[in-house]
Amino acid sequence: MHPALKILIGALMVVVGVYSSVTFWDELLIAFKAGIGPLLVLIGAFIVWLESDEWKMRREQRDTGIQQRFETETEEEADEEAVEEEEEGFTCGECGKTFDTQRGRSIHQAQKHE
Ligand SMILES: [Zn+2]
Repeated sequence: MHPALKILIGALMVVVGVYSSVTFWDELLIAFKAGIGPLLVLIGAFIVWLESDEWKMRREQRDTGIQQRFETETEEEADEEAVEEEEEGFTCGECGKTFDTQRGRSIHQAQKHE
């Protein structure tokens, strides 16, 4: 289709649209008023659906967030314990001597304190 023809049709539509709007202004207003109800229902339902979905998603995220934080804390605690053992070694509770391995301390305790 030729661009000039499209413009002509467009201009015609505008003219007819303005004419019909002015002529059927009252009907247009009624149609507009009548359309508000269904439009409100649609928008309201959309908002409810959207927000409840987001709320649900946020709650799920929070739950996983707490779980993840708990897991991280547990891991950190385990790491700290491991570090302590590595730094201090295995200390004999009776004479305070330190050993690199638990097995070494056990042997020492068995030999010296029993
Ligand atoms: Zn000892």
